[in-house]
Amino acid sequence: MKRLATQLILALVSFSQMRASGAQEPKALPLPDERYKADILLVVAHPDDEGAATPYLARALDEHKRIAVVFGTRGSSGANEAGAEQAAALGAIREIEARNALTTLGITNVWFLGGKDTASQNVLQSLANWDHGASLEQLVRLVRLTRPEVILTFLPGTFIGEDHGDHQASGLLATEAFDLAGDPASFPEQLAGPTKRLEPFLENLRPWQPKKIYYFPDADREDIFRGKGPEYSVKEISKSSKQPYWRMALDSFRAHQTQAKSFLDKIAQMDETEIEKTATSDGGWTDALHFVLGKSLVGGSVTGDVFDGITPGAIPFARPDVSPEPARPELSVQLGGPYSFYAEFRRAHGLTNLPHPEPPEIALQAPGTLVIPLWIRNRTAKTQEIMLSAALPAAWTTQSGTGKFTVAPKQVAAARIEVNLPAPAGNGGKKPEPQEISVHAESNGQSIGEIKLRVEPRKRALPQ
Ligand SMILES: [Zn+2]
Repeated sequence: MKRLATQLILALVSFSQMRASGAQEPKALPLPDERYKADILLVVAHPDDEGAATPYLARALDEHKRIAVVFGTRGSSGANEAGAEQAAALGAIREIEARNALTTLGITNVWFLGGKDTASQNVLQSLANWDHGASLEQLVRLVRLTRPEVILTFLPGTFIGEDHGDHQASGLLATEAFDLAGDPASFPEQLAGPTKRLEPFLENLRPWQPKKIYYFPDADREDIFRGKGPEYSVKEISKSSKQPYWRMALDSFRAHQTQAKSFLDKIAQMDETEIEKTATSDGGWTDALHFVLGKSLVGGSVTGDVFDGITPGAIPFARPDVSPEPARPELSVQLGGPYSFYAEFRRAHGLTNLPHPEPPEIALQAPGTLVIPLWIRNRTAKTQEIMLSAALPAAWTTQSGTGKFTVAPKQVAAARIEVNLPAPAGNGGKKPEPQEISVHAESNGQSIGEIKLRVEPRKRALPQ
């Protein structure tokens, strides 16, 4: 009896196994959520920065491109033109204004990294204040979630212009995320499959390698960016709205009441002819948009369309080509701060063709202080004495940092020269010209380096 029961159970088990392996329909495993797939991921710093690209985004939407946007901060600093709220409360409002601006165009997949507004031209300060690591982790997550073909962002570099450190930081993080999101060894906890039915920690994302990255610069000059990427007219008429693209961008911008209420109130009083006149006047909003191609992993021409060379589907992860470290003499001096950092950044991310001014440049508030950060490298086995001096324009004076210093053997030391900038001389109402300064470094009567920097004194500029 017992033996019969055992045989029956065995027979039933093998019958059910047969059914499981043969007759049952296969179950599809879950895939990434298509609602969040983007063709373009725009990465900018503050609410209203999207305005640098909205005329192009309106065009891309006409071409049925899917767009997602990431802001680095909620824009919690600055004046409030629409109400009494300040600081974090203002940031809470500006998040909604940015969402509303983008919803006007039809873009709803919008995220904020949680960085804090940092009013300086120094990208390194912005990165420190944004909690660089956490911001990058979140941006890599969002790239893996949205799987963009193209990333569009601010150009990471230093220029005469507003050159906001936060703008640079958004472009820098976007470049880092471009190079990391496809790497299975980066943030692997985002890629791991669930170990439990309701997985609370591992994210089950897949690596994603974006195909191209394009930049727009926060610089006054245009010369070095021309011909480095595509150009888009903003005067063309949208197929969907029958309005010029600049006009759609303006309608989207109306959401930013806390930043531009007085301007928007003025526009609200104008008729169509007046609006058009204002838009097309000098410094208006109808200049063409210029992008700079950072890199393409799928070919396509430099000045061709953003989607030139792009076909649907994933491409393999591409580790960036790191260029070799430049040879340096045993004893050398180099401009430090963001300047030397950006040289390393371009080298590390295979961005050797990214336009940057030579000599480096900056616009500064005057009267004020210019700080020249320096790295002094001593690779010799002896303590070395060096002599620093600065050649300055008339009426500019050295505050500190020149003279004799020693650098211990096999060490890299930071030094800084501070220069007093006088009030800009009256120039018949014209913009002051940039002035060139140079720093000379000598050791034992021999030159070990000369550094040049172009400085434009201005009535107003962000801190250095
Ligand atoms: Zn901004």
